Amino acid sequence: EERELGRLRSKPSRTLDGSDIALYANAESLDDVARAHVLGAAGLGLYRTEFLFLQRNQPPDEEEQFQTYRDVILGMNGRPVTIRTLDLGSDKVDRSGLTLPHEGNPALGVRGVRLSLAHAPVFETQLRAILRASDYGPVRILVPMVSSREEIIAVRRCLKKVAAQLREQGHPVAQRLPLGAMIEVPAAAIGMAGFIGLVDFVSVGTNDLVQYLLAADRNNEALGELYSPLHPGVLRLLAHVIRLGAEHGKSVSVCGEIAGDPRLVPLLLALGLTEFSLHPATLLEVRRCIRASHLQQLRDNAGKLLQARSRSGIERWLKRNSA
Ligand code: PEP
Ligand code: MG
Repeated sequence: EERELGRLRSKPSRTLDGSDIALYANAESLDDVARAHVLGAAGLGLYRTEFLFLQRNQPPDEEEQFQTYRDVILGMNGRPVTIRTLDLGSDKVDRSGLTLPHEGNPALGVRGVRLSLAHAPVFETQLRAILRASDYGPVRILVPMVSSREEIIAVRRCLKKVAAQLREQGHPVAQRLPLGAMIEVPAAAIGMAGFIGLVDFVSVGTNDLVQYLLAADRNNEALGELYSPLHPGVLRLLAHVIRLGAEHGKSVSVCGEIAGDPRLVPLLLALGLTEFSLHPATLLEVRRCIRASHLQQLRDNAGKLLQARSRSGIERWLKRNSA
């Protein structure tokens, strides 16, 4: 079985009826990057930058960030790398001094893009490092915890300022890097039409989206199955985001853990997803499931999936539609 999986490294992620599905990898270390490359990931769909900021008393400077991002980009050897800007918050253990010492409800607090916009110098340093590194390969910038059009406008303003400064200082900077929003706040998913025109792509962070939609803490094991993507409300919203992206010609990926769960492949394909970003550990298994799937058949059955009234209804659909 290991050998059979191994053979999939060089195989396309193509469905039985000939559609190519893009499998990107999530990474947070150079080890992950190396694995992603070896497994034939289409690129990095989510490179988390938080770890650079954790376990230290000062945020990393521009040079350190630049070198790290450059090494990640070089490690992917020309395949696109999606760098997510800092997603710190007091939900993470942090000594950098950026997060608030105490928040009553950290998951709903100053985190992600909110924190970045509250610390302009830190955000600009990160953007400078990303823009400089983008000279070494194709880069996209992904912004976490977006909830409004205004935040995208503010991020674009920062990006523009930083790019102009860098050019003035003689650094080569790509004309325009693709900018994307994480869709993980319910209002951003429901109201995506309001800002989709301002971004080049979106990536659905289902880990947080599920938590916020179901009012179920993603880290609280006492909640058991209450925290689950297999809820009719979650699937409807996912379907909406995927459809809206397609209508606007914008790429939509899912980078939450569900994209790396082989059992959920038929469901995500049925909803119209064509880009997955997942941990390298399950990339080959997901590829195997994709290769055993008939895309058109699944899409034809999407109506039934969206009519399911409960978790068990969704599970029955999955049983009937698994390869
Ligand atoms: C998510 O929320 O689904 C996600 C991919 O981001 P993180 O797990 O880093 O919050
Ligand atoms: Mg998230």
